[in-house]
Amino acid sequence: MQTTMMDVGLSLNGLLERAGRTFSAQQIVSRLPDKSLRTHTYAQWHRRTRALASVLQRLGLQPGDVVATLCWNHHVHLEAYFGIPAAGGVMHTLNLRLPPGEIGAIAADAGDRFLIVDDILWPLAQQVMAHHRFERVIVFPFSGAPVPEGCDDYEALLDAADPDGFAFVPHDEHAPVSMCHTSGTTGSAKGVVYSHRSTVLHALVGCMGDHWGLKNTDVLLPVAPMFHANAWGTPYGAIMAGTRLVFPGPHLHADDLLDLMQLEPPTLALGVPTIWLTMIQAYERALTEQPGRWTMPQGLRSLVGGAAVPESLIRAFDRHGVWLQQGWGMTETSPLATVSYPRVELQGAGADERYRRAAMAGVTVPLVDLRLRDDEGADVPHDGRSMGEIQVRGPFITGAYHGVGSPADKFTPDGWLRTGDVATLDDLGFLRITDRSKDLIKSGGEWISSVDLENALMSHPAVAEAAVIAIPDERWSERPLACLVLKPGEGGVEPEAMREHLMAAGFAKWQCPDRYEIIDAIPRTSTGKFWKLKLRERFTR
Ligand code: ADP
Repeated sequence: MQTTMMDVGLSLNGLLERAGRTFSAQQIVSRLPDKSLRTHTYAQWHRRTRALASVLQRLGLQPGDVVATLCWNHHVHLEAYFGIPAAGGVMHTLNLRLPPGEIGAIAADAGDRFLIVDDILWPLAQQVMAHHRFERVIVFPFSGAPVPEGCDDYEALLDAADPDGFAFVPHDEHAPVSMCHTSGTTGSAKGVVYSHRSTVLHALVGCMGDHWGLKNTDVLLPVAPMFHANAWGTPYGAIMAGTRLVFPGPHLHADDLLDLMQLEPPTLALGVPTIWLTMIQAYERALTEQPGRWTMPQGLRSLVGGAAVPESLIRAFDRHGVWLQQGWGMTETSPLATVSYPRVELQGAGADERYRRAAMAGVTVPLVDLRLRDDEGADVPHDGRSMGEIQVRGPFITGAYHGVGSPADKFTPDGWLRTGDVATLDDLGFLRITDRSKDLIKSGGEWISSVDLENALMSHPAVAEAAVIAIPDERWSERPLACLVLKPGEGGVEPEAMREHLMAAGFAKWQCPDRYEIIDAIPRTSTGKFWKLKLRERFTR
C-alpha cells in the first residue's frame, strides 16, 4: 500500500505567510537603544519581511548565499530570520560578544556575502571588516544615527522595495535557512547549518505543552541572544503560535530587564542561568532597599538552559511566583533536546522532589534519540547513578560541521553526535548533567561532579555564585577548587564551615574542595555562561 498523503515539504515561508494573515493584529515590541519601545503588528512585520526578501534578491542574492547578522534582539532580527530564507539565502547570526578577529574568521568560514548590522554595532563591524570583506553592508538605523557612507540604509531599502511583487524562491525542505557557530568555549568555533525541515520540526516539538508550551495568548521575552542557537528556536515557535514578542534590544542588565517586565509583562522568558542569578539578586535587594520598584510578572515561566540550573535558584524564583524550567541542548541540537517537567508519576511527590527534578536536565523530547556511553563505548545503565557521555541523533541534530565534516571525536561510527557532556539517566528517563567531560574532576581515580558541588555551594546563604574547577594535585591527580562570589555584605566563609555544609548535603569528605577562592565575579563566556577555562588558567598557575 502507498500513503495517500501529499508530499509537501516543510518550509518557513508557509509560517511567515500564515502568521501575517492569521495574526495580523498581534504585536512585536522592541526596546530601542534609548530604552523607548517600538511596536509593530504581525501584518507590518510580514510586509517588511517580504520587502527584505525582495531587496536581497534585487541585490543579487543567489540560493544558498549567506547573509550575516550582527544584531541585538529586535524586530529587524526577526525580519532577517524569515526574510533571508524567503529569498533563498542562509542567515548567519554573528556573536557580537566575541573578539572582532574571531567574528571575522567565523564570517570568512561561512563565506558571508552581505551583512545586516545595527548602527550601534557599527564600530564593531568596522573591526570585523578588517578580517572579512562583505560585498554589501546594510545598516539598520536602530538608534536613528545617520548610516555610514558606503553602507546601505536598511529602512531606505525596505521603503523602496515591492513586497507584493515578491515571489518566494522554490526550495527543497532540506535547503539551508540559517547557520550558527558554536561559541568555541571548549575548542575552535564550528558552523552548524539548519534546514527548513529541521527548523520547523524543532519549533513544533518546542511548542509542545510540557516544553515551551507556547500559546497565542503568551508573551515571549527572549533574553537569550538571537545569535545564540537562534534564541533557542523560540522565535520560530512564537511565529507559529502567533505569540506577542517582546525584544529587549541591547538592554540586558538585570535592572533593565526588570524594568521592561513592568512595562511588558512576559508569560515566558528565556536565558542562561547567569541572567536569572543576577536578576534574583537585584530583585531581592530592591525588595528591602526600594520596595515596590518591581513586581515579578504573575504566572511567568522561564526557560533556563545552556548551563546547569542550581536548585537554589529554582527555589528562589518560586518564592516569588516564577517557575524556572530547565532544558538541555547545544547549538548542534537546534538546541532543545531535553526538558524537565513534572511527569504524571510525580504528581503526588512532595516539594523537595519537585525541586530536585526541576534541577535536572529532564526528559528527552520527541524525535531525539539519546543514549549514554562509557569510555569503552558500552551502554551505561539507567540507574540514576552511572555516568556516561550523552550521544544523540535526530532530524534536528547536526550530522556534521560546516567545512569540517564529521570528525571521529565528535561523531560515532554509527552516526550519533558525541556531545562531550556527561550525565546519568534514571528510571523515569530524567537526564542529570554531571559535567562537561572537560570539567569533570578525577580525584584518586574517582569522578567528582563539579555541577553537584556548585549546586550545593549555591544553596549556602552567603554564596551568590559558585564555580568548581579541577586543579592538578600530585597525590590525587586532581582536586576540586571552589571559586565563590559572596552575597553583598558577606565578609567571608570558613572552609571548615563550607565543608560541613557540603557534608550535610550528602557529599563525602574527599569530594569536598580543599581550597576556596573568594572572587569578585565569575568570568563569563560570550554567551554569558561561567567560563571555567579562565578560572583554571588563573588558579592552576
Ligand atoms: P558553548 O559550547 O559555547 O557553551 P552551546 O550554547 O552550544 O555553546 O552550549 C552547549 C553546552 O551547554 C552543552 O554541551 C552543555 O555542556 C551546556 N548545557 C546546556 N544546557 C545545560 C543544562 N541544562 N545543564 C548543564 N549544562 C548545559
